[in-house]
Amino acid sequence: MRTKKGYQTWLYEFLRFDILVECPKCSKRAIVKVSEPVFSKIKTEVKLTCMHCGFNKYLSPQKTTMYSLGVPFDPFFLTPLWLTKSYRKNILWAYNYQHLSFLKEHIAAQLRERNGQAFFNKSLASRLPKWMTSAKNRQNILDYIHDLEQK
Ligand SMILES: [Zn+2]
Repeated sequence: MRTKKGYQTWLYEFLRFDILVECPKCSKRAIVKVSEPVFSKIKTEVKLTCMHCGFNKYLSPQKTTMYSLGVPFDPFFLTPLWLTKSYRKNILWAYNYQHLSFLKEHIAAQLRERNGQAFFNKSLASRLPKWMTSAKNRQNILDYIHDLEQK
């Protein structure tokens, strides 16, 4: 299970799945769909659609620009993400449920650590934001993730 991939690389992986965002029109859950794996370097088509109010936005492959990862917005339209929750001065966020369970798995693994030996993937966990993995926050963060899973 060891990997040298950094957290940024992992974030790309979650763009394979639909990104859940807050609809700019009705504030309910909408999705951002990417037609091709973003890292294939092939220009990709991106669509935002809301099942609730029918709102949609589209970026043709020529127009697609990807903004930075690592912020609580989708990287194409910069729409606020659906899965976010404030934790003190920070924001816990995920692109989708796959990303959320990834965070849960890694934070839980840290909780199970014995004698400073992580069960797996210590290098990756160390790239998660410190406030997420610090011993005093872990249990709270897991509770918050649990809340988001129900959203
Ligand atoms: Zn809507």
